[in-house]
Amino acid sequence: DRFKLDGKIALVTGAAQGIGKALAIALAQAGAAAVGLLDLESETLRHTEKELNAHFSSTEIIALAADVSNANQINQAISQFASKFGRLDIACNNAGIVFSGVEEKYASENASVEQWKKTLDVDLTGVFLCCQAEAKWMLPQHYGKIINTASMSAHIVNHPQKQAAYNAAKAGVVQLTRTLGAEWADRGVHVNCISPGYINTPITNTPALKPIMDYWVRLTPANRLGEVEDLQGPVVFLASDASSFMFGGEIMPDGGFTLW
Ligand code: NAD
Repeated sequence: DRFKLDGKIALVTGAAQGIGKALAIALAQAGAAAVGLLDLESETLRHTEKELNAHFSSTEIIALAADVSNANQINQAISQFASKFGRLDIACNNAGIVFSGVEEKYASENASVEQWKKTLDVDLTGVFLCCQAEAKWMLPQHYGKIINTASMSAHIVNHPQKQAAYNAAKAGVVQLTRTLGAEWADRGVHVNCISPGYINTPITNTPALKPIMDYWVRLTPANRLGEVEDLQGPVVFLASDASSFMFGGEIMPDGGFTLW
């Protein structure tokens, strides 16, 4: 069964909650032998580690506290995890942040350079640093499945949200994915991405964004927000041997938002 992930060693960043947690669950359900949950140190991370360990008896769940924008922390966390098993097969680089310009202080004309840099550091440089640390294991073993979380915001502009830095970073993730997808293809390492539309998670379910949620739904042909479970199938596909000819590709689970 080419969709099975039996015995695979997998890592997910931004896995304490939201989309990352759902991706970790999907990889465990598909048979991964171990799933590393990488996130900033927090009670949520420890809680998720406990919850998933209690739920999955044949998958080892390991919390890894690190900041994806910090090269030293990432190299250390990823090599600590991979060296425990002697390999790394799957990595979902999913951690991300957004400062939404719905809050006037984050609109482009007001945003500080620190906000701009912080978004680029986490959402784009963080993905690059993780890919680099993962490739150190995957290239020599001639096997690897990297799945970056971009966003439909790489392609469209949801203008009331005024999130220039985020949109720029996510467009960067798509092109980074395409570039690494080509660079590493002949060494058995697949780099692909998913670009979700509006998904119901802690990042979107905030007091600032609540008022415009109805507007998002109206613009989504599926007439609903996505749920984190909507992303599990695409990611298991890209993590599995079923995606054997996918390199630098993108899957857009967006409820049809970008169709019009
Ligand atoms: P979320 O805020 O619920 O989860 C993000 C996780 O990333 C959190 O656990 C957070 O602690 C972690 N994180 C943040 N900065 C980090 C850092 N520097 N190092 C390590 N971990 C860090 O958000 P989510 O909705 O689950 O988003 C996950 C990804 O999906 C993000 O990249 C986001 O941009 C992307 N995305 C989300 C949506 C959506 O509608 N929710 C749509 C498209 C893309």
